[in-house]
Amino acid sequence: MTEIEKLRDRTYRHQVATACRAIAASGYGDVTMGHVSIFDRDRGLMYIKRKGLGLDEIEWTDVLVHPIEDDDALHTTPMMHFEASMHTEVYKARDDVNSVIHSHPPYAIAMGATEASLQMVNHDAVMFAEHGVPAIDDHDLITTSEQGARVAKALGPARALLLRGHGVLIAGEDVRWSVRAAVCLERAIKVQMYASMLGPLRPIPADVAKDFFKRKYTAKKFLTIADEDKSSDGTSLDEFWDYWERSTRRNDTVVPRQV
Ligand SMILES: [Zn+2]
Repeated sequence: MTEIEKLRDRTYRHQVATACRAIAASGYGDVTMGHVSIFDRDRGLMYIKRKGLGLDEIEWTDVLVHPIEDDDALHTTPMMHFEASMHTEVYKARDDVNSVIHSHPPYAIAMGATEASLQMVNHDAVMFAEHGVPAIDDHDLITTSEQGARVAKALGPARALLLRGHGVLIAGEDVRWSVRAAVCLERAIKVQMYASMLGPLRPIPADVAKDFFKRKYTAKKFLTIADEDKSSDGTSLDEFWDYWERSTRRNDTVVPRQV
């Protein structure tokens, strides 16, 4: 591995750890379950949280590296999450996706247990204005490549998918997008739930929501510290990512582990 490759490898590991802790702080923690991955498309390698630890505990050394075309290794690699095939199959199906999140956030699970669908209730919801949030009726654990492929098909071009009775899958252009979408989804559903208790919903009109999304977010490649061009794309996503990095460092404590 060249020095640049080492630097890139370390950066992805740190980004996975930051993402895990960021979503843990936003309602995605479920004991040791839930996972975040980043896809290094140039090398065909997936960086993914290992099992056995909670999202809020992950450090850069807790990240596994897996070639996404090697389906068999998903079931033989020690400490690989059972449901990692969701990640690999989405990366195979979507060349615009380079970060995937799966976990079991309670508000999204509550919505998936009903006939309700996400409404444009606030600025968080506009993250999903273009394609909405579809749902899949497979209530099982997603442990095989065939099941992972069905999840990827149900996701289609969307940013998020409800797995009914189970959890969510989030797909992002990069890890900033996947974390932001994860945070937005749970917040938007929470707001929608409370709003619907107060009275009939008055959502943001669809065309306004789509326009607002375009003005709020501009998708560009997330630069790693190994990239030559370190210029910011100037979106709020950079600012949010810096916040998540600061907040995870602020909460850092050293706790002895048994696993
Ligand atoms: Zn799951």
